[in-house]
Amino acid sequence: MRFRLNLSKRLDMKIAVVGIGVAGAYLMNQLSASHDMEIIGYERLPESQHDAVCAWATSENVMSIYAKKCGLNFDDYVLHTGKHMQVDFSRENKNSDKKNSINIKLKGMVSYDKLKLIQDMIKGTKIEFGKIPKKENLESEFDLIIDSTGFHRNYLPKPEYELWIPCVQYKVKYSEDDLPFDDFYLKAFPSMSGYFWYFPLGNGYAHIGAGDFTKQNHNLFVSRFLNKYKCEIIKKNGRPVRISPPSKSMPFTDEKKTIGVGESIGTVYALLGEGIIPSTICADIFVQNIDDMKLYEQKILEQFKIYSLVFNFVSKKISGTFNLLNNPLDLLRIYDHMKSNENRYGMEVSMLNMMKVSKA
Ligand SMILES: Cc1cc2nc3c(=O)[nH]c(=O)nc-3n(C[C@H](O)[C@H](O)[C@H](O)COP(=O)(O)OP(=O)(O)OC[C@H]3O[C@@H](n4cnc5c(N)ncnc54)[C@H](O)[C@@H]3O)c2cc1C
Repeated sequence: MRFRLNLSKRLDMKIAVVGIGVAGAYLMNQLSASHDMEIIGYERLPESQHDAVCAWATSENVMSIYAKKCGLNFDDYVLHTGKHMQVDFSRENKNSDKKNSINIKLKGMVSYDKLKLIQDMIKGTKIEFGKIPKKENLESEFDLIIDSTGFHRNYLPKPEYELWIPCVQYKVKYSEDDLPFDDFYLKAFPSMSGYFWYFPLGNGYAHIGAGDFTKQNHNLFVSRFLNKYKCEIIKKNGRPVRISPPSKSMPFTDEKKTIGVGESIGTVYALLGEGIIPSTICADIFVQNIDDMKLYEQKILEQFKIYSLVFNFVSKKISGTFNLLNNPLDLLRIYDHMKSNENRYGMEVSMLNMMKVSKA
């Protein structure tokens, strides 16, 4: 990466943050507060339709730290505190087969009002909603352009290789007597090509959705689930999620004025399709290293090194080329990483469960 910010220009620098999701909102909050620079945000959705297309599950052990940095109390946003997550590996399109399931004890996994937290993070900052700015206009007006557009990555060169999973999701409401589950539930699709999720949002509300690389299961399974468990549909949304890691999402910059932060540069943990915490961490690393983009790139690659291994494991599973006998160390390293970061992932991690996942 060749371009570096000129420190002497910092005080009158103008920065555009394009895309106001978790990463963009965190950047708006932190950069507007702690640096004497002009920061303008752009979000393609109008303010009245601003949304956070996501199932809203995260580990409160980590997000509470970043919310606090923004002067906010994460507890105020928690909708449901998980105790257990059932992961169902049954082959048929049955719902909730206990015999072929594992029950993961949760320690900090919650669903939270992601949109409200974003809205509170950006309070008092300058954002133009309903606007997709042209790159050439940004380049003539700003010293630095941050591409935090997530999956879209509109302002950066296309990486040579990328892998993403198409997803569909509904926000639904059940009557108290008809709740399908009272806690987090996942159903894995064959060869780990994706999964169906049911994440409670409190008071009978839930996000139900699915993603599937093969495109064969997700729409089908979600419609069967909607038919089986009667509910009120509040909204339907969905978008693909990028699962190729930062090491495969280079370049992080166009070598002129634009730099990527968040899912635009692959900060999603492929095994879980989990991007809230990694994208927030990525934005924080950006804030800490805003004076040195080379260092930012190095720190991102270091921080998310394990994501490359996890991604390789998931891609091998999807392509049917993973073999436990040939790749025992990969699984061991992933287990080791998650076991020593149980709080980070908000769940207890056991080798037995990991083996079951690898056989799925
Ligand atoms: C269906 C689904 C469910 C998920 N569930 C979870 C989950 O439960 N937990 C978890 O940790 N992760 C989950 N993820 C992943 C997670 O949502 C993302 O990885 C994370 O939100 C990425 O944050 P971001 O800020 O980089 O990008 P995003 O959150 O995607 O934000 C990008 C923003 O940029 C805006 N934008 C896009 N293009 C432009 C443009 N040209 N100009 C202006 N604005 C633009 C978008 O409207 C959006 O507001 C899920 C993903 C999907 C698709």
